[in-house]
Amino acid sequence: MQLYCESRFVAKRRQTREVKVGNVGVGGNNPIRVQSMTTSLTQDVAATVKQCIRLAEAGCEVVRITAPNKQAAEALKDIRAQFSAAGFAETPLVADIHFLPSAAMVAVEHVEKVRVNPGNYADKKKFAVKEYSDKDYDLELERLHEAFTPLVLRAKELGRALRIGTNHGSLSDRLMNRYGDSPLGMVESALEFIRICESHNFHDIILSMKSSNTKVMIAAYRLVVAKMLEENMRYPLHLGVTEAGDGEDARIKSAIGIGALLYDGLGDTIRVSLTEDPWYEVPVASDLARRAEALWANCDAVEPQYPHAELVNPYEYKKRDVVEVSFGPQTLINPLEPPRVITKIPGKLSTEAEQIVATAKAAQKQLKDARIEGLLLEIKDAADAEAFNFAALQLASEVKAFVLEVAPGLTPDNLSAIATLQGPRLVICPTLTKDAGEVMAWGEFVKSRGGLLAVNLPAMDVEDFAEEFKAIDENNLIFTCTTARTLSAFDDKPDDTHPLGAYRALVNTLAIQNIRSPLWLRYEPGFTILDGEGFGRQLLEASMFVGNIFADGAGDLISTENVDDPVRATNLAYNILQGARMRTVKTEYVACPSCGRTLFDLQEVTQRIKGRTGHLKGVTIAVMGCIVNGPGEMADADFGYVGGAPNKINLYVGKECVEFNIPEAEALDRLEDLIRRHGKWVDPVEEPVGA
Ligand code: SF4
Repeated sequence: MQLYCESRFVAKRRQTREVKVGNVGVGGNNPIRVQSMTTSLTQDVAATVKQCIRLAEAGCEVVRITAPNKQAAEALKDIRAQFSAAGFAETPLVADIHFLPSAAMVAVEHVEKVRVNPGNYADKKKFAVKEYSDKDYDLELERLHEAFTPLVLRAKELGRALRIGTNHGSLSDRLMNRYGDSPLGMVESALEFIRICESHNFHDIILSMKSSNTKVMIAAYRLVVAKMLEENMRYPLHLGVTEAGDGEDARIKSAIGIGALLYDGLGDTIRVSLTEDPWYEVPVASDLARRAEALWANCDAVEPQYPHAELVNPYEYKKRDVVEVSFGPQTLINPLEPPRVITKIPGKLSTEAEQIVATAKAAQKQLKDARIEGLLLEIKDAADAEAFNFAALQLASEVKAFVLEVAPGLTPDNLSAIATLQGPRLVICPTLTKDAGEVMAWGEFVKSRGGLLAVNLPAMDVEDFAEEFKAIDENNLIFTCTTARTLSAFDDKPDDTHPLGAYRALVNTLAIQNIRSPLWLRYEPGFTILDGEGFGRQLLEASMFVGNIFADGAGDLISTENVDDPVRATNLAYNILQGARMRTVKTEYVACPSCGRTLFDLQEVTQRIKGRTGHLKGVTIAVMGCIVNGPGEMADADFGYVGGAPNKINLYVGKECVEFNIPEAEALDRLEDLIRRHGKWVDPVEEPVGA
C-alpha cells in the first residue's frame, strides 16, 4: 500500500485536486478552509441567516446547515438569497443530509455543496445482523448506485460539490456486517460512493471520516488516503472529531485528532465541533489551520535521509511494546499501564529550594482529578545537586519520581551529593555528548542510586550508542528527544518545528535496535509553531504533537513543560491523555455540537448533566441531540442521553436503547437512576465549608 502522506518525517502537505465549493477553492494550493454549522431550526429562515452572517463575520469560510426533510431543504433557497443579499454571496452554503435523497435533490438546487452520509443515504440502517452473500451485497450496491446517481448528475449539471461524510457511528448494515464498525468499514463506505461519482465522471468530491474516538478517526483518515492512492484518487479531506463536547476538553480532543492529521500533511478543510455557540468553533479551527500551514511552509526543505524503513503500522492503533519499568511506588510503566505524567517546577534548587518545594506542595493540593507523578527539577551545578536532597526529603510523599534534568558540562562526579532515595524513583536526564564513556558513566551512576537514565538523544546518536545502552540494560532506561535535538538529528535541515519526525525516527531506531525502553514525550519551551494567546496556543500545540505520536502507539510518559503553571501543566497533560483515550481520570463526555435537528437545548442540558455526574470518574456519558449519527457513536460510552422526539429523551446503556420517550423534565433523574442500577454511581463528596 502506498504511504498515506508525503513524508512521515517532515510535515509536507498532501497534494490533492482542487474542488470548488462555489467560488471557494478547497484542496490544491488553497489555504485550509474553516467551516462550521448553524444550530437554529433550518425552517426559521431569519434565525438561520442571522447565524450564517455571524459565522461568516467570525471568519467561517463555508457554512453548513442541516436539511432533515424537504421543507428544510426548500428553506435553503431563501436562506441563500438573504445571506447573499446581506453581502455574503461569496460564502458557500452546504446542506447536511441524512437518510433522504429527496431532501438532497431539493437542497442541491440552492446551495453550493451537499453533504451526504453514506451510512444512511439510501442504504439500510436498521442495525440488522445478517450475513450478506456476495450476491446480496452486489445487489445492494446496485441499488445504491441507482439511488445516488440522480444527485451526482444534478450536482454535475449545476457545478455543485459533494461531501461524502462518513461517520464511525452510522455505517450501513451491509458494511457493518462485512467490516464491523472499523476504520476499514468507514473507508469502504466512502469509496463506494466515490466510485459511483467517478462512474459519472464527477470529481468535485470532498471526503470526511469522522469519529468521536480520535484513534479511530486518525486511522480512518490515514487509511482512506492510502486506499484512494491505490485507485489514483486525490480528493481533498474535511477533518473533524465528532461529538467532542465543550470547553478545554473539546479543544484538546479536536487538536489531537485534527492536529495529528495536519501534522501528517493531511486536511484541506476543518471543522471543530463544540457544544457551544457555533462561532466559538471558528477561532479554534483557524488557529489549527494557520499552525498547520506554518508547519507546512517550513517543512518543504530537504527531507532528512533517514536510513531505515519505518516499522510502525500507521493504519492500526497498537501500543508500542515496552519493557516494564518502575516509575516509583506502585507506579509501573508497561504496555498495560497508562502513560505517566511529569510536571516541571522551574527554579534554581540551591537558592530557591524552599519555594520550589512550596510550589510543588501547593500544586498537588490544588489538583483535583490529576496528580503530579514525576517532578522535573533542574540541576544547573553541583550546589543544586546538594540542595536536591532537601527538596527530595520534603516532597518524598508527594511524588512517585524525581526527574533531574542535568545541565551541559556536569558529570556524575558533580552529582555525587545526591543521596539514594527511599520511596520515589530517581530519573537522571543528563545532557549527553557523543562520548560512549560518558554514556556508560551515567549508566553506572543511575544504577548506583537505583534510578533510571533518561536518554535525550536523536535517533542517529541512539544508533551509535546501541551497544552501550544494551550494557546499561533497557530496564534502566527511558528515551526522549527534545526539540533542540531535532536540529542535530537532521543536520541538513535547518528547521526545528517538526519534532514529530525526530520522535518517529527515535521510535523506529529503538525498534530496529531491539531496545524496548519507554518513551517520554516532551512539549517543552521552544516548541512554538506560531505565536498566539498564551495557554490557548500551548493547549493546541501540545495536543497536536502528542496526539500524533500516540496515534502511532508510542508514548509512555508525558510532560507539558512549555506551560509554566504546574497546576495547568499537569491538568493539560492528563486532559490530553484522556482526550487521546490513553488515561481516564474524570468523567468523559461525548456531546454533539447540536444543529437544526436537535430535539432539546443541548448546551443547557449538557451543563446540567455535567453538574450531576461530573464526579463519576471513569464513566463516559454521551449527550446527543438526535440519533442521526447512530448508536455506534455511543459504542465507547457507558450511558447515552439522546433526543428521541421533541422534548422526549431516550436513554442508552452502551449501544442499546433501554428507556424510550421519557419527558425531558424527568430525564436527568432517570439517567442518574440508570447509572445507579448499573453500579456506576457514587455519591458526590461534600466539600467542607470554607475549603
Ligand atoms: S447528533 Fe446532534 S449535531 Fe448530529 S445531527 Fe443530531 S442533533 Fe445534529
